[in-house]
Formats: sequence, C-alpha cells, structure tokens
Amino acid sequence: LGIGVLSLALAGIQLSAVAQRKSVNQRVDSVMRLMTLDEKIGQLNQYSGREVTGPLVKQNANMLNDIKLGRVGSMLNVQGVKNTRQVQEVAMQSRLKIPLLFGMDVIHGYKTIFPVPLAESATWDMDLIGLSAHIAAKEAAAVGLHWTFAPMVDIARDPRWGRIMEGAGEDTYLGNEIAKARIIGFQGKKLGGLDAVMACAKHFAAYGAVSSGRDYNDVEMSDHQLWETYLPPFKAAVDAGAATFMSSFNTLNGVPAAASDYLQRDILKGKWNYSGFVVSDWGSIDQMIKWGYVADKKEAALKAILSGCDMDMMSYSYLEHLKDLVSSKKVSVKIIDDAVKRILAKKFELGLFDDPYRFCSEEREKAELNNPEHVNATLKVAQKSIVLLKNQDAVLPIKQSVKTIALIGPLGDSKRDMQGAWAGANDADRVVTLLKGLQQKLGNNVRINFVKGASIKTNDTTGIAEAVKIAKDADLVIMALGEAYDMSGESRSRADIGLPGKQNELFNAVQATGKPVVAVLMAGRPLTFNQIADKAKAVVYAWFLGDQAGNAIADVLTGKMNPSGKLPVTFPRSVGQIPLTYNDYKTGHPYNANVFQYQTGYIDVPNSPLYAFGYGLSYTTYKYADLKLSNTTMDKKGVITASFNLTNTGTTAGEEVVQLYVHDPVASVVQPTKKLKGFQKVALSPGESKTISFTISNETLAFYNQQLKWDSEPGKFKIMIGGSSDKLELQADMELK
Ligand code: BGC
Repeated sequence: LGIGVLSLALAGIQLSAVAQRKSVNQRVDSVMRLMTLDEKIGQLNQYSGREVTGPLVKQNANMLNDIKLGRVGSMLNVQGVKNTRQVQEVAMQSRLKIPLLFGMDVIHGYKTIFPVPLAESATWDMDLIGLSAHIAAKEAAAVGLHWTFAPMVDIARDPRWGRIMEGAGEDTYLGNEIAKARIIGFQGKKLGGLDAVMACAKHFAAYGAVSSGRDYNDVEMSDHQLWETYLPPFKAAVDAGAATFMSSFNTLNGVPAAASDYLQRDILKGKWNYSGFVVSDWGSIDQMIKWGYVADKKEAALKAILSGCDMDMMSYSYLEHLKDLVSSKKVSVKIIDDAVKRILAKKFELGLFDDPYRFCSEEREKAELNNPEHVNATLKVAQKSIVLLKNQDAVLPIKQSVKTIALIGPLGDSKRDMQGAWAGANDADRVVTLLKGLQQKLGNNVRINFVKGASIKTNDTTGIAEAVKIAKDADLVIMALGEAYDMSGESRSRADIGLPGKQNELFNAVQATGKPVVAVLMAGRPLTFNQIADKAKAVVYAWFLGDQAGNAIADVLTGKMNPSGKLPVTFPRSVGQIPLTYNDYKTGHPYNANVFQYQTGYIDVPNSPLYAFGYGLSYTTYKYADLKLSNTTMDKKGVITASFNLTNTGTTAGEEVVQLYVHDPVASVVQPTKKLKGFQKVALSPGESKTISFTISNETLAFYNQQLKWDSEPGKFKIMIGGSSDKLELQADMELK
C-alpha cells in the first residue's frame, strides 16, 4: 500500500509538472505567434550594461533604442532596483513588451561576500554551500537581478589556472554534489520565487582543463576522460534543474565550445534532453574568428546557432547576421524558434510576463542588503572553510600564556583582498580583517602589534627589519601571507604558484628569530610553500573567506571554532608535478622513493603532494574502527552497507568529514587507485562514538567503459574509508558477481 500511495503521489507531481510546462509552452506559443523574425532574433541578443549604470539614457542612447525596438532579450551587469526598473521600462515601450532578463556574475555573494567557491568547497557541507548560494540569490533578486552566471561546475586539476577559485576543486563526485547544492541554493525548488534567481551551469565544457593552465586556451581530451571526469557535474546540474548553461571559451579537440554540436546538440539537448537555454560566454561567438575556426562573423553566428547556442553574450553576431542567414536558408526559422522558446519559457517561469517589475522593490532591496542574518551565515561558512594543515606541538589554539602577538604580513589588515575575485557589489568596507578579528576576540588581555613587512606585488624588503623587531618582542607570531585578490580568478593564471613578492624572505627572517610562527595563508588557489610547511609551527589555510574573514580566522586561532575543513584539491610541492590529483595509477614501475631507476615519478621531487585531497586537521583526534560489510558479494542490483565506528578521542568537540573511496583493481579501462564515492560530515562531542554507514551500489562501482557506457564490471573491489585520501585506515574487499 505504502509504495502504491507513493507512486501515485509521484505520478501526481509529474503530472502537475507536465501540466505546468504545457501552460508555459502555450503562453510562449501565444507570444511567438505575434513575433516578427527581427523580434525573435532580438530575444537571442544580450547586451552588457556595465557601462550604463549611471546616467543611462544619455550615455547609451543606441542600446536603449535597441531595447525599445525589441532587439534585446537580456542585459548583463545592470544592477540595483533603480537601474533595472529604468531599463525594464524601456523594454515595456517595445511593441510586444517582452520583459528583459537581467543577469550578473553573483559568484559568492552580492553584497554579503561569502568565501570564494573553492574555499566553501572545503567545508564539504552541502547545507552550508546551499545556504551561501541561497543568500547570494536573495540579495541578487532584491537588486532586480533574475539570473546569476553561476555556479562554475568545471572540474579543475591545475592550480595554475586562476579560475580554480570559482569551482569545487578536482574531484568529480564532490563536484557533482556541490553543483546540485549550489543550483538548488540559487534557484530554490522551483523557479519564480522572489528570493531566488536562475542559475547558470558553466562553462560547458572542459574549461578547467585548458592546456598548461592558461586561461581561454585549447583543450585536447579523450572522450573517456571527458565523460568520466569533466561532464558529470554538468549532468548533475541538468538533474538539479539548472535553468541555463553557459558554453566555454576553450576549444575542445579543435572545435570552439560555442560551436560544438557534440556538446550542445548531441549531449546537452540530445542525450540529456535539456530544456533550458544556453548562453555563449562574453564575445565567444565572434572569437571563433580569432581561433581560426570561421572566416567572419556571419559564419560564426551560423556555427553557433546551428550547434545549439541560444543567446549571444556581447558579440552582436546574432543581431547582425541571423536575419540574412535565415533569408539565405542557411538557418531555418525552426532553429531560431527553438532558441526563442527556451528563453521566453524562462521569462514566463520567472513571472516576468505577469509583472516585469516583480524583482524591483526598493523595500526588499534595502532589507536584504542589510540583513544581519546574512552576516552570520557568511561567518559560519567562513569558519568551516578553514583548513588546518599543520599544528606542531599543539601551538594552536592560542594559549592563555600568550600576552603579546606579532601579526606580520601584507594580508594582515587588507580588506579588499579578503573578498577574492568576483566580489559582487564590491563593498569592501564591511570586511573584517584578521587584525580586527584578533583585536575583537582577544580584547585587552593580549597586545597585538602589526606590521606588513612586505608587499605582495613588489620586491621591497625594507619592512622586514621592523617585522623582525616586533617578532622578537612577541610570545607568538602570526603571519598573514598569500596572494592578492586579483591574482586568481579569470585571466589570472600563474606559472609560479609560490608566495609572490618577498614574502618567503619575510617568513625566513621572522622564523629565524626562533619565535613560534603560525602561518595563515590566503589565496584563491593552492599555493606552493614547502619551506613554510616545514618550518612554521602551524599552517592555517584561509583562502579568501569574504566579509567575515578576520572573525572566522580569529575564531579558529583562539579555539572558539574547531577547524573541520578538508582540502577539495591536491596541494602540489612543485609546479612541475601539475596536474597532480589523488586519482593516481599503479604503473608497471611502482614508485619507491629509495630506488633511483625505472620507476614512475621524478628524481628531484617526491611523487606525493604537499597536502593530499581530503586532508585537514582538527584540534581533536578521531579513531576509525570496526569496518563491517553487510555482505562481501553482491550483484548489480544489490547493495552492500559498509559501517564503521567513528570516535572523538580528544577533549574538544568537532566535526569530521569521513570519506569513502573505491578501487576496481582489474578493469577494461584501467582505474585509478582511488575514487571518492561518498562522504559525510559527522559531529562528535569528546569521547562520543557514532556508527556511520555508506551504501555501496552498482553506481558506486561503475565507470565509463571503452564504449562510453556507464557500467560496472564483475570482480573484486577494494573499499576504503578514512579522513583523508592519503590516510584510509579502514579497508575491505568485496566482490561484484
Ligand atoms: C566569463 C564568464 C562570465 C562572463 C560575464 C566571462 O568573461 O568567462 O564566466 O560569466 O564573462 O561576466
């Protein structure tokens, strides 16, 4: 009976979704019937209004005139209720009064800035990640926006690539989970809420694999790698209901992504039956000319529309050439109609045809941009994004006996840097720096002396002497080192991912005083810092944590918050090791650090990373014990439950991210030694034990085989569980029949 009721209820939900789609489709059709070809093409055109915030009408007469003529479907970078209302009013003067979509890159917050996405990924906490996206959406919707160009779901395995900061890191399984959490966080369960915006899964596809980590570059990749590693988060995005997709700047095996039939028609709109729309990246349609893929803009427009790119962001190619291409029968009206329908459907779903100004409320704008709950939320996410990498002699949390602290480093009191790239409305005034956070937390009991000591972007060494002086007077030195906010993000690839400027010299001079040094490293990517890892007493990886960075770090340093972050990406020792992930292979020449010849790996640098994927310490300790499998064999339809006991063996309450990995030792496509297949975040008070279970099913064991079919192969499998990819204490074997 139970199942019968459930399936009836599910059928009901599906029916109502179909019925609803139908009514949207009917409404779309009724508008389409009224549209001229010019008006249809207009819907496919997106202009940027970055230049139009301000005295709109005067500066942008042409653009506004185009809106009035129905030649624009969407604007990006117009923000604020006053501005969006003003531009929407122009659209309401057009013949058919089709409302505009307003989009912007709201990547990790609009007004309230959250940790950069890579940092948030270190929480491994899908509720918090979802909450962060939800609040970003709430603020964005309150300033008149309908659409964010996020999340970036590109798997990134090369920390030279500056955009690694925008994603979930190197792992596909973690990336899938985070993609879903972010999309549902931005959009809510169903499009149309006033506290939600449309999400955009980007950049389709394989942008994270640009060669040598150089932004915008080419990608040469096997189909197998594409399907196994890079496409799954995009599929997860489709399943989570992502309203839009953005194609990428890169080529994939010789074809610009914005012209890829394979990606857009065969996979996205074909195999995955995607019903949302695809926007190009900024100018990427006419960039096909620069790539040498097409001779001119007309051909660029032709290739893009035929291959399934629905909206042209800022290249004007569709506006200028689609009409001719239809007249010359190179493009059918059917193709244009399909693109227009997809876009209009979203406008209906957002409720814009019912009320084009429904996102334009001054009251909501004021309330949401000053909502104290948002500040609390970014603090919470920031606290949990911090990864403790080293804590020798339990130097942290800071002891009562510490009466004087020397805070040294260019990032100790730098507001804007804490926000990282893509900082929404760019209001750095609200940022709490580390200096401020420590002062607030420690009050008058502890004296804090601060000097920068070095700058990030120059080789000036004159501050080092002063830094050494305050270090000598201190009981504890905290060094705030790293990158500036604009050294990661778009077009911010780096060949050397070490500490820029003379920060290493600064560290060495301060460390030579013999005072205990806690290094707090801030960046949008993994940095290389072997010396610091070796010589600092403690290393805290603080990424760019957003508005509450200083409070969050101070909470961890003082022990108010027990760190629980785990790395979502491998930290290499040397740039020469890149790409380095935990998914390594057993070669015929196994690595042995003591043997010099005929082995995989380097002769000058170990094969291991500086810090492994999934790694992160706590102020407490956890014991993993008693792994039991409910069965040691299963068939493809079966499941096995793997359970074990996790105990907090220390004296501090904490949260541990327990991780499940599998290995298929003999397979028709050689498999890496481990693949993440599950994780849970478990809270434990001191001495507490919990039994944790993971379910192993065919899904856990499957991979893309040589025919690109997702399937498992019978045989033995290894199940591994632990608190870091390089420390999997619990292991068991099982067999798939
Ligand atoms: C970036 C996109 C972004 C777009 C609009 C492009 O340069 O690659 O990620 O959404 O600009 O700002």
